[in-house]
Amino acid sequence: MVKESHYLVRFDDICPTMNWEAWDAIEAHLVRHGVRPILAVVPDNQDPNLVVAPPRADFWDQVRKWQAMGWTIAIHGYQHVYSNKNPGMLRLTAQSEFAGLSYEEQSSKLKKALAIFAQQGVRADAWVAPSHSFDRTTVRILKELGVPVISDGLWPWPFTEEGPMTWIPQQLWTFRSRPAGVWTVCNHHNGWSDRKVAWFGEMLEVYASRMTDVATVMKVFQGRKQTSLDRLRATSRWTWTMVRSFLVGLLLKAIGTKPEAA
Ligand SMILES: [Zn+2]
Repeated sequence: MVKESHYLVRFDDICPTMNWEAWDAIEAHLVRHGVRPILAVVPDNQDPNLVVAPPRADFWDQVRKWQAMGWTIAIHGYQHVYSNKNPGMLRLTAQSEFAGLSYEEQSSKLKKALAIFAQQGVRADAWVAPSHSFDRTTVRILKELGVPVISDGLWPWPFTEEGPMTWIPQQLWTFRSRPAGVWTVCNHHNGWSDRKVAWFGEMLEVYASRMTDVATVMKVFQGRKQTSLDRLRATSRWTWTMVRSFLVGLLLKAIGTKPEAA
């Protein structure tokens, strides 16, 4: 596995008022191809941008069903409401629900978020920060609360740091052929058309033989230490990601479209 490229898929902003029409079709594609994704579930969504359909009353039944199918359920913040413009340790976006807040404030939010999961009989398999923004205090609290995995960062390979905490990187926002590494493709389906959903199905077809899941990644990489080459490659990837998102921002501004929600 360490000499090949492997892909994980992640869907963010999973909540009762998401785009269910697109989701039902996406779920069918995932099941057909036997792909076990990371689903980033918002415990108590208060973000109006994530209200795009009437709430589904059986939402938590669905989450429990996905977890029972071996899909990875991540805790996606607490309420998905930004407190500040702190870019956090990954410096990818300038908005955060967590980064820059005190230990007490972050701990209170994370405990409330995990209490909702516990009340619903859902295990927090991983952490996915809204807008990729969190800091070392968030990581410390996640370790204390027993969340085992962070899905984020631009490194090519997963690694485990003391605590313990295993970082499974998330470097892509669309399917792209990449060299050896574990590549997580992050998706936001709230704005997806039928055409985009069909495209996703085609991508699963193309990448089927290289798809993996969190359980497999953990078996191979848990305990691996981060190397200086990992850090170097993440820095060059960060620079490229920033340049590209700046250029895309300029383009979207020119044609009068807002970028997708994080
Ligand atoms: Zn989000």
